[in-house]
Amino acid sequence: MRRLRRLTAILTAAALGALASPTVLAQDATGPQDELIEVAPGAYAFVASNYVSLVVVTDEGVIVTEPASQFDTGRAARLEAAVGELTDQPVRYVIYSHDHADHSTGGDVFADTATFISHRDAAPKLAARAEAVTPVPDLTFSDAMTLELGGTVLELRFMGRNHSDNSIVVLLPEARVAHAVDFIPIESLPFQTLPDAYPTEWIESLRAVEALDFDILVAGHPPVTGTKEDVVEMRGYLEALGTAVEASRTAGHADGSPEMVEAVRAALEPTYGTWANFDAWLPLNIEGLIAGWARADAAADPSPAP
Ligand SMILES: [Zn+2]
Repeated sequence: MRRLRRLTAILTAAALGALASPTVLAQDATGPQDELIEVAPGAYAFVASNYVSLVVVTDEGVIVTEPASQFDTGRAARLEAAVGELTDQPVRYVIYSHDHADHSTGGDVFADTATFISHRDAAPKLAARAEAVTPVPDLTFSDAMTLELGGTVLELRFMGRNHSDNSIVVLLPEARVAHAVDFIPIESLPFQTLPDAYPTEWIESLRAVEALDFDILVAGHPPVTGTKEDVVEMRGYLEALGTAVEASRTAGHADGSPEMVEAVRAALEPTYGTWANFDAWLPLNIEGLIAGWARADAAADPSPAP
């Protein structure tokens, strides 16, 4: 894995002679510290403002994911500039990993050359936002879609509901890369209260991803790259979380109580205590898991309200 360059802030700050220590630079919030990392031949991870976009370069154009400009309105333009450092080819496709606004905002900078793609169930949600900065998908699919550009094949797959009801995997079969956003964070807890998630189906979805043929996992947030083992570990985390919550209920702890949080923490800490956000998000993951179970129960038994 080759780190090509830090695009902006570190070099700029160093040139100014403002700061000598990389540690101090990392704390300097005056500018973006974008990176372009080659993850496989022709495949790059553009890492900016804590979001990762996959960039696939071919002789006939470029494919990108995740404009991700909701909280950093210049991010998609810098993604476009980073593509320009790699090739003169235009961006031909923008793939939305899922509909969530933090990942899907800002693709309008590619609208003059690109076709936009998402899962079928992301499209109405994206359209409902009615934002000029978020082009509505031109192409959608239900289960699988094959994309070919300049001799490079991409397989888009829906592996079931998980972090959302429309999260997909972008596979590069030849490079053996799988790009999955938000539902397979690498050595990190899933986001906060698992909003919009389907916790039980999520586990089955991960099992399906484990059956895919790839070696390199590219996430939607840093840590940027992992392996299939990270998929197995995320499934292990969700399974252990569910088991620990059920055991805590059996022990008589109320849902979300300090006793439950402590019991679940004690069960998970030996294996997952070093993961990012373990302390801060474990109580939120517990809350989200229980809420997700309740949503699934309500959907399975839609009794009318009294
Ligand atoms: Zn998301």
